[in-house]
Amino acid sequence: NTAADPDIDDLYKGILEGDRAKLAKAITLIESNASRHFESAQKLLEKLQSERTDSIRIGISGVPGAGKSTFIEAFGTYLCNTGYRVAVLAVDPSSTLSGGSILGDKTRMEELARNPNAFIRPSPTGGTLGGVHRKTRESITICEAAGFDVILVETVGVGQSEAMVREMVDFFLLLVLTGAGDELQGMKKGIMELADAVLVNKADGSNIPFAEKTRAEYNRILHFIQPATTGWETRAYTCSALTLKGIEEFWHVIKRFREACGASGILQERRNNQLKDWMSSLISEQLTNLFYQNRAIQNLLPAVQKEVTAGIKPAAKAVQELFHYFRDAMKD
Ligand code: GDP
Repeated sequence: NTAADPDIDDLYKGILEGDRAKLAKAITLIESNASRHFESAQKLLEKLQSERTDSIRIGISGVPGAGKSTFIEAFGTYLCNTGYRVAVLAVDPSSTLSGGSILGDKTRMEELARNPNAFIRPSPTGGTLGGVHRKTRESITICEAAGFDVILVETVGVGQSEAMVREMVDFFLLLVLTGAGDELQGMKKGIMELADAVLVNKADGSNIPFAEKTRAEYNRILHFIQPATTGWETRAYTCSALTLKGIEEFWHVIKRFREACGASGILQERRNNQLKDWMSSLISEQLTNLFYQNRAIQNLLPAVQKEVTAGIKPAAKAVQELFHYFRDAMKD
């Protein structure tokens, strides 16, 4: 074994013992795009799968400036000081393009990063959004095996990544700023539909009355929106990540959620459905790759596309014919 091909048994033992260097190394292995690392990573995950603990996975989203990192620092530190172990992961869609990441900046969450009960990991960089999805999911599994009770998955408020994070967490929090009624009305309904709670941050000082007003406005809107979780009413709350007011109360909201949805079986059902959906999307991805990488298809596709765009052949018929060739090619 070289340094690039770590010993799986050694990583496995280290993770179970709470060795954070081994944990970080395991996540690096998962994030690697090398195919031989994929095999090792899957072997490790298979071993760790059964070690899963009774964790809670919380997605946190909000526009830049909403106070996500300040909130995670405050909330995470509160949880660590209460005796929980907290892992913070990030999903940053821009990192797939730029290689930069929202948690890459070391000055963020300085206090939490120093806490022995916390583990912070920036967004995986490079690759597709689907690749980031897999890496984040698998990192959650590793962190849970390592004994982390609360998994926080941070993402920036830009559509696609929020839907992705929703698919891997138990509870989805939308962190928002104080705003005027018109702004709230303009807010994408789709994002509110993902949320299990809306938290109006920066409810401190002279901003408190505005934050309370904003909370009431969100509650009015939420009233007309289908809740994200059956049997759980999505509500708006206020907090200040600066003065810490409302931070503990928010944890009580999460605890109530877990008690209610745990007892009803909704939480387990959600996790099961998430795994099934995840499998489906992996299958779709593999099938798509198989199709487009097929020689016969690659040879045929340009001509068939031309026939379709020239109006000679209907698109559906063209696809059916392509699949006919594809099935034949698969038999060989
Ligand atoms: P992010 O982009 O969502 O991660 O937002 P940041 O956590 O970086 O916060 C953006 C700005 O808002 C920073 O200047 C913070 O100090 C400030 N901020 C964050 N939370 C609060 C809060 O609860 N109250 C006040 N007054 N300012 C806050």
